[in-house]
Amino acid sequence: MFIRLSNETTRDSIVDGPGLRAVIWTQGCKHNCKGCHNPSTHDFNGGFLMDLHEIEETLKSLKLQKGITFSGGEPFEQPLACIEIAKIAKQLGLDIWCYTGYTFERLLNEKGAGYKEGWKEFLQYIDVLVDGPFILEKKNLLLKFRGSENQRIIDVKQSFKNKEIILKEEYYNVEQVVNKYVFLKQIV
Ligand code: SF4
Repeated sequence: MFIRLSNETTRDSIVDGPGLRAVIWTQGCKHNCKGCHNPSTHDFNGGFLMDLHEIEETLKSLKLQKGITFSGGEPFEQPLACIEIAKIAKQLGLDIWCYTGYTFERLLNEKGAGYKEGWKEFLQYIDVLVDGPFILEKKNLLLKFRGSENQRIIDVKQSFKNKEIILKEEYYNVEQVVNKYVFLKQIV
C-alpha cells in the first residue's frame, strides 16, 4: 500500500506533541483554511507516493522517540493507509497524535457528506487528536500544540470511554481550563 506524503518523515520533532516524535506529513487537504501555514500540502496530486514498507523501516529505526504524529495536509483523507501506519506504530510501543481539520464529531458521523471508510477505525488507534480547522481570527501564538483557539486537544480513548469529549488539560493554561466547558459537547 502507498500513502501520498508532502515531505519525508521527520524523525525528531519537539513541537508536534509531547516528547521527541516522528511526524508523518500527509499530502492533500480540502479545508482551505485562511492563513494555512502550508498551502503546498493541499493538492491531492502533489507531493509523492511512498510505500508503507519504507515508513515501517523508518519507524523501526527510531530509538528515543516517544511517539508519532500525523500531520499534513489532512491525514483523514487517507485513512486506510494511516491505519496501517498506526498499527505498526502501536506494535512498536509508540503513542499516536493526529492533527485534523475535521472536528471529532464530524469524523464520528457516518451519515455526514464525504464520510470516508476507515475514519472510525483510524480514530481507535489515535491517543490524542488535535481537531478543527485553523481559524485565522482565533490564532493565538501562546497556545501549546495548536494554532487557533477553536482547536481542541482531545484524549480520544477517554472520550470514547466517557462518551463525551475529554480534553488533555495539561496542555491548556489555567484560563483555558476554566473556559474548556465552552468546548465540551456530547458525542452524537
Ligand atoms: S487543515 Fe491544516 S493543512 Fe488543511 S487548510 Fe487547514 S491549516 Fe492548512
